[in-house]
Amino acid sequence: MSKPVVAIIGRPNVGKSTLFNAIAGEPISIVKDTPGVTRDRIYADCTWLDMNFTLIDTGGIEPESSDVILSQMREQAEIAIETADVIVFITDVRQGLVDSDSKVCDMLRKSRKPVVLAVNKVDSIAKFGNDVYEFYNLGIGDPVAISAASRLGIGDLLDAVAVHFKSKGNESEEDDDRPRIAIVGKPNVGKSSIINRLTGQNRVIVSDIAGTTRDAIDTVVVNNRQEYVFIDTAGLRRKSKVKEDIERYSIIRTVTAVERADVVILVIDAREGVTEQDAKIAGIAHDRGKGIIVAVNKWDLIEKNNKTVYEYTNDIKRVLSFMPYAEFIFISALSGQRLQKLFELIDIVRENQTLRIQTGVLNEIISEATVMQQPPSDKGKRLKIFYATQVAVKPPTFVIFVNIKQLMHFSYQRYLENKIREAFGFKGTSIRFIIRERK
Ligand code: GDP
Ligand code: GDP
Repeated sequence: MSKPVVAIIGRPNVGKSTLFNAIAGEPISIVKDTPGVTRDRIYADCTWLDMNFTLIDTGGIEPESSDVILSQMREQAEIAIETADVIVFITDVRQGLVDSDSKVCDMLRKSRKPVVLAVNKVDSIAKFGNDVYEFYNLGIGDPVAISAASRLGIGDLLDAVAVHFKSKGNESEEDDDRPRIAIVGKPNVGKSSIINRLTGQNRVIVSDIAGTTRDAIDTVVVNNRQEYVFIDTAGLRRKSKVKEDIERYSIIRTVTAVERADVVILVIDAREGVTEQDAKIAGIAHDRGKGIIVAVNKWDLIEKNNKTVYEYTNDIKRVLSFMPYAEFIFISALSGQRLQKLFELIDIVRENQTLRIQTGVLNEIISEATVMQQPPSDKGKRLKIFYATQVAVKPPTFVIFVNIKQLMHFSYQRYLENKIREAFGFKGTSIRFIIRERK
């Protein structure tokens, strides 16, 4: 099930980043071998009670002059309307109601997106409580008084946000069992060309999926009587002049599209090879347990011999070493080379994501593996694996019951993962492990 996306918008200095950190927690250290994922605080995976959601901060570079504040806020609001399920609009009780707040609220109201109004810097209810009423004038519902800096009212705010998650489960997107594919990658690698080519060759039936809260236009392509939903990420190009802003928006779009997808196609330009930025984008999909296909595009421009594919694959695998399971394909959106094969790969990856392994067979593989290579030990205690079972799909997730959790080293877990992959494949999808102690 795709997680809801919550976006924070508001004027500069109202406390967006402070609120973001209050909800997401302080920046944690970089997740092991996934580059660049938790370093930038544009988005964070959060939990409130038993609900998971993705929080995004649309605020980028702060404008220097007040006359650009409004246009920047409009841009932020557009991004939020386009990508989020719930928008948190944050204002500042000390500055009171400001004209630009009202103008942005007009946009939000028209969008019909769920909006929660937060009035920040209410550090003391006794002192500022009455000033909160003024914000009813915005006409977007009850203001929630918070103090992001002292973490007051955050629970009430999240309760108000979570009310809007409930209805999401009833939407058609959740019942829709068509493969959902996000085509992601840096600008100019050929994302739009691939979509155009696919839709040109295959009949497009609908452009809008009824009942979703998204305004994004998804493209449905029919191949072999199977419908595939391509989630739009390339569509909108922001006109912002600030490089950091453009980057921020493209990350937001990528995160929210990947969130909704089953399979992610990471497009890279054959002439450039794989870059750090590609690795960052790949990390977003890896973290979310999505299926991954690396499509090396513009293959028509490469002079080839019988080693070229091998060399390219090795180079990419080196940079994307945290996802050795990724599938590869070498394509040309220009000539259409191997685009048909892309559908076959999508089918394979989807099947692997939903593969279920019988407990008996799984435990046979694991006990064979532990015989071939003894589990690690520490201070005279050796890891014992009692039992394993698959508890989820998309991505396939296994619970392993052990005697002492700490003894399960990353490298041994990797070893077990490799053994499971040798036996069952799981090509194109990450698999997850949950280690539980059982005395
Ligand atoms: P942003 O520009 O909207 O991201 O705002 P920041 O989060 O950077 O906050 C702007 C300023 O407001 C900083 O100096 C914060 O310390 C301050 N601030 C944020 N939240 C609160 C709050 O709840 N109370 C008070 N008094 N100050 C706050
Ligand atoms: P996007 O920004 O990732 O959507 O990239 P576009 O689809 O707009 O493509 C960027 C440029 O690369 C355009 O000029 C395309 O014509 C060109 N291009 C895309 N795919 C191919 C390809 O397979 N071969 C060649 N030679 N050019 C391509």
